[in-house]
Amino acid sequence: MSDVEQSDSLPGVPDAFQRLWTPHRMVYIRGEGKPASTGECPFCVSPQRSDEDGLVVARGEHAYVVMNLFPYSPGHLLVCPYRHVRDYTDLTTDETREVAELTQQAMRVLRRVSNPHGFNLGMNQGEVAGAGIAAHLHQHVVPRWAGDMNFMPVVGRTRALPQLLGDARSQLAEAWGL
Ligand SMILES: [Zn+2]
Repeated sequence: MSDVEQSDSLPGVPDAFQRLWTPHRMVYIRGEGKPASTGECPFCVSPQRSDEDGLVVARGEHAYVVMNLFPYSPGHLLVCPYRHVRDYTDLTTDETREVAELTQQAMRVLRRVSNPHGFNLGMNQGEVAGAGIAAHLHQHVVPRWAGDMNFMPVVGRTRALPQLLGDARSQLAEAWGL
């Protein structure tokens, strides 16, 4: 992996995900399109693929966990209901509970694998609030490290290579059941 960023310039303690970052590559793998229908919605399509192809980390009954293709930080996960719903108030009680439980487990697994110092959790509701794919609700789980804000302007413009996201997915999926 000689073509990826070395860990020296990255925030925090060495962790399993630092080789994700490739600021000099600026690779776009898939578009960030706004889906017009569920057939084009990445959060509807991902769970229909294999875990590896869909970058799925864990599957629940009503919701699942997937690697963010456009991460804010290494190990950035999204917790999504399977149903194509836009608003938090659209979730059923069972979906609400499972999204919360998967979020908790995502934090546990990330701590186990990459020892973040903190997290940002949350949902952007609507394009005006920053939702990239507003049509399908997704909860962000963003691991944070002390000092990583200095790096954010850089990582915000980076794209991770799918092979490396796949490696991270495998590590997290493996740790999920521990
Ligand atoms: Zn969808």
